[in-house]
Amino acid sequence: MIKDGVVVDEPAAAPQAAGRSTLVNSAVADVMSTCLMQIECSFTRGFAGMQLIGNTTEVCRDGKERARAALEGLGIHIPPRRLVVSLTPADVKKDGNHFDLPLAVSLALLLKDQPRTVAPERWLFAAELGLGGELRPVRAVVSFAVAAMAGGLEGLVIAPGNLEEVRVLADLSPTGARPLVAHSFSTLRDVLAWIFDGQTPAVVRAGRSPQRRHLPPAEVNFDDMILPPSLELAALTVGAGMHSLLLRGSPGTGKSMLAARLASIIPNLPHEEHIEAMRIYSSGAERLPDALLAGRPPYRAPHHQASAVAVMGSPDTAGELALAHGGVLFLDELPEFRRDLLEALREPLESGEIRVARAHRKVIWKSRVVFVAACNNCACGWAGSARQPCTCSSARLHAYRQRLSGPILERIDLHVNVPEPDSANAELLLRLAHHDGSSLTKRLMARVQAARTFALRRNVPLGALLNRDLPACQLLAASGLSGVDFAALVNRRLSKSASSRSVIRCVRVARTLADLSESPVIREEHLDQAWLWQAERAAQARGECFVS
Ligand SMILES: [Zn+2]
Repeated sequence: MIKDGVVVDEPAAAPQAAGRSTLVNSAVADVMSTCLMQIECSFTRGFAGMQLIGNTTEVCRDGKERARAALEGLGIHIPPRRLVVSLTPADVKKDGNHFDLPLAVSLALLLKDQPRTVAPERWLFAAELGLGGELRPVRAVVSFAVAAMAGGLEGLVIAPGNLEEVRVLADLSPTGARPLVAHSFSTLRDVLAWIFDGQTPAVVRAGRSPQRRHLPPAEVNFDDMILPPSLELAALTVGAGMHSLLLRGSPGTGKSMLAARLASIIPNLPHEEHIEAMRIYSSGAERLPDALLAGRPPYRAPHHQASAVAVMGSPDTAGELALAHGGVLFLDELPEFRRDLLEALREPLESGEIRVARAHRKVIWKSRVVFVAACNNCACGWAGSARQPCTCSSARLHAYRQRLSGPILERIDLHVNVPEPDSANAELLLRLAHHDGSSLTKRLMARVQAARTFALRRNVPLGALLNRDLPACQLLAASGLSGVDFAALVNRRLSKSASSRSVIRCVRVARTLADLSESPVIREEHLDQAWLWQAERAAQARGECFVS
């Protein structure tokens, strides 16, 4: 059954005989889909011992010893008989340490002949157990919570360390899903006291999180940086339309600084993307960063020596590209990255998804990112600089530009030349000294937000939220011009030899520039600026013969 984009089983059936059912729910999370599963215990004939069946891994099987130790600590002894613990559906691979708690609860239900005050089969349990019975946080809790909601369960029982991310989900409940209830307990003793004695959990219902109302300040922002007007316009365009960006310039011109600060002017993640980003991050981490919990877009900057798996991910692990979902992926020193990695990036950057296959497993990671890259003008870095002479031979210069060429550049919307710094540093020191409260970040964010609002009303009927996603067939409608005027404008301002891909990208960027000036129609100056940012024109402005 599929609900809200999540693959789930039918909710567990009611216990057949109250007081003796051992059925407990947990889940297996597989990247962007989650499958609810059940744990059931029973004594059978045979040699004494506990056997876990149902396609389990070593980590999962170790859980029976942790569960046994935790139960013994509470005086619940497992008799020397043959005990079978079945994890179903049997054909789904069960991996992870989060089965410890549901396993212990299922055993306690079997061994304690005592009426229950709650129906544990209506809850999803996920936590690791210490040998002393303490509950520890686990990975993928966001996915479990989404599955519990979509599967019609009452809620989930987790460790206190996982409660914060579930609180955020309560704010983001998918449409049509049940409101989320999460109980967190410190120990197995507290969980059993809740089930058998009705004792209220210490920390309980997930309510509205204060984090979305009181956003933490972005870690880095533009307040400590001087932006020349050309770079400010580029930053605004990227923030408003989520277009991709390549920054070229000499060392020390602030390319990396600018890239690292771009996420600070991008509005909070939309609800759906926020849940997706949390699920991706949660699949590999027990605790989520505060900024992501608050809905801030992520910023990831893998090193140029990073392996293809580190960037693209594997069926089990999210790569940097997926971890940047909804935010910024920055590749500094672009020509230094492996060629095959850059080639592999092309398709995900277009589609917003990474398809990874290994052995018999194929998974799809979400990866809708703003792609930002930076590079020098030559191998030594000083071509075109007034500060130092370039020492590259013409062959070396050609080889460097050759490495930068190729299809990845065609997928970049804005090619921006970063100027060398001038006396603006003094202006920055004055601004920082006066603390005049004029935050450049706030001003840029307000303009980005205004442009997004302006674009949204027009774009939604056209099938896109952002200008970068506008279908080519809707660009005329988005331009606000008549067919004749649109064709005349494009013919007049853009080169006849431009590829159709270039023209489409150019018009999308021009649409964002028009939104930034709140113009319903694309005007000549918008198209001119967008055209100036195209690869060939940006190279000509540097006085280069562009190699493509
Ligand atoms: Zn050089």
